[in-house]
Amino acid sequence: MSSNIMSSHTTPVRLDLKKDEKLDIEWQDGVRSTYSVSLLRSMCPCAICKEVRNQGKITGKKSLLTILPGNYSKPLQVVSAELVGNYALRIEWSDEHGSGIYSFEYLREIISKNS
Ligand SMILES: [Zn+2]
Repeated sequence: MSSNIMSSHTTPVRLDLKKDEKLDIEWQDGVRSTYSVSLLRSMCPCAICKEVRNQGKITGKKSLLTILPGNYSKPLQVVSAELVGNYALRIEWSDEHGSGIYSFEYLREIISKNS
């Protein structure tokens, strides 16, 4: 099966975002996932952040946030979020780094690694 085909574990039935705190997702297969904003930001899927993460010098989520590109002088929060088609969530951050497109497949993947 191609990964582009929607399946129940990558289909959200409910999305609940608290912009300065967390994102809750309830998936079609009954699983609920909670992502703190710091987790989401530190797992930004863009090429720059991916490269920083891949350098492998990172020990914890907190230190990761401080080395990723962006302005963290203010508390991190989501400025806006919108659905991209039916496969992803685009999140714009307060840190001036830009926006990342988080596919639902990616969101499912990172929660299984971080919980
Ligand atoms: Zn990024």
